[in-house]
Amino acid sequence: MPHVLVLNASYEPLGVVPLRRALVLVLENKAVALEESGAYMHSATVTVSAPSVVRLKRFVRVPYRGPVPLTRRALFARDGGRCMYCGGVATSVDHVIPRSRGGQHVWDNVVASCRRCNHVKADRHLFEIGWRLRHKPAPPTGLAWRIIGTGHRDPRWLPYLQPYGADDALARIDGISA
Ligand SMILES: [Zn+2]
Repeated sequence: MPHVLVLNASYEPLGVVPLRRALVLVLENKAVALEESGAYMHSATVTVSAPSVVRLKRFVRVPYRGPVPLTRRALFARDGGRCMYCGGVATSVDHVIPRSRGGQHVWDNVVASCRRCNHVKADRHLFEIGWRLRHKPAPPTGLAWRIIGTGHRDPRWLPYLQPYGADDALARIDGISA
């Protein structure tokens, strides 16, 4: 089932929900459709246009949600789908400080990597092999990253996500199938 981007009344991206859930929000008058997908949903009695973006009518206060969840998809988006050692096409996730040597699975210690670099580096520190990172890894910031991390995407969402911190990643993400 397609997914729908949900915006707060303030237009901040809140999350992604299945189409059925978004339709319920609209039919219960809790949200309005801002963009339509072009598809139609039929029931016994009504036909409604399927939304691709909805905006809540009432502002929802969102508690602080902590760092952007570290997912493979979000990581590949952060690193542009490129190996952070050689710049080749990334296919795997590498721990800069190897897990076997105390490295943690956190944004500051993971990078997208090609299979070859990951294999060559194995469980060594960078200084041991004289490698350098192309960029220092850091947690991504911005609400749009929570949407990217879900793995759902729709070109109609872009104008609503671009103001929220993921401009570069969004531009690159279509080439990424991680
Ligand atoms: Zn590489």
